[in-house]
Amino acid sequence: EQVVIEVQDLVKWYPVKVGILQKVAGYVKAVDGVSFSIKRSETLGLVGESGCGKTTTARCMLRLTEPTKGRIFFEGKDIMKFDRESMRKLRPRMQVIFQDPYSSLNPRLTVKEIIGEALTFHGIARGRELEDRVGELLKMVGLSPQHIKRFPHEFSGGQRQRIGIARALATNPDLIVCDEPVSALDVSIQSQILNLLEDLQERLGVSYLFIAHGLNVVKHISHRVGVMYLGKLVEIADSEEIYKNPLHPYTQALISAIPIPDPKRKREKILLEGDVPSPINPPEGCRFWTRCRYVMDICRHEEPELLESAPGHKVACHLYKC
Ligand code: SF4
Repeated sequence: EQVVIEVQDLVKWYPVKVGILQKVAGYVKAVDGVSFSIKRSETLGLVGESGCGKTTTARCMLRLTEPTKGRIFFEGKDIMKFDRESMRKLRPRMQVIFQDPYSSLNPRLTVKEIIGEALTFHGIARGRELEDRVGELLKMVGLSPQHIKRFPHEFSGGQRQRIGIARALATNPDLIVCDEPVSALDVSIQSQILNLLEDLQERLGVSYLFIAHGLNVVKHISHRVGVMYLGKLVEIADSEEIYKNPLHPYTQALISAIPIPDPKRKREKILLEGDVPSPINPPEGCRFWTRCRYVMDICRHEEPELLESAPGHKVACHLYKC
């Protein structure tokens, strides 16, 4: 199967500057050595609490934020070596669907202008052709082509997110980063949007990096799931495998937080103690040790590597060192 995008050892540190002289006092280690790949027509779910580095990872992957270090391959080509012009040509093939359908659509633009913006910008379509393409995109996301001249405020939250999806699809991308696309929507609307994204993937063969807070949202839509904690990828596996057999104590805690619909079945809820430590001076060794119920001596000073524990299942935890 063809890999669309691969990131290797992605790092993004932000300097923390202090005083009048703005001396660098430390670094926010937002993303600290993350590697993964996404295949064609595949959805990789990326989960973790706020500030764990999921969105920064995605932004670096698209080169919307310049990574501090690391390599990014798009269809095998190292795009860190791309100059501005090559990046500009690549842009239409990588798109984003944003979290908030209210603030991500310019209220002063019509639906046609919003969806058609990228087509105009990249010189893909104009005039009648542009209008036809926007109409077609609206149909694809379950809206009427007659909505073309309307403004965002005339739509509900779910419909606005459909417009956001149509905008992302306009340039026929190979990869879409879905940055918490349903978290601002009512639960009843969430599943409609998730189903739409799934249908579109089946029809178009597009790949998704699907970012979410908790594991319940990504459960149905993802083929594989990666779990991040304080700038690190701590576990990655096939979706079914990670729900049935979570290995990292942090993943286990996230899974225990998913409500079970069947009241007869019970699951022990693992409460995580304490807050997420600051990414400025993350704990030495395993970054999770301050909250881990299995913490051992080695965890406090030696960082666990992300190692394969079974085919396709990787985990970074000293409990599983062979
Ligand atoms: Fe817990 Fe140690 Fe595993 Fe970290 S390495 S998750 S502290 S057992």
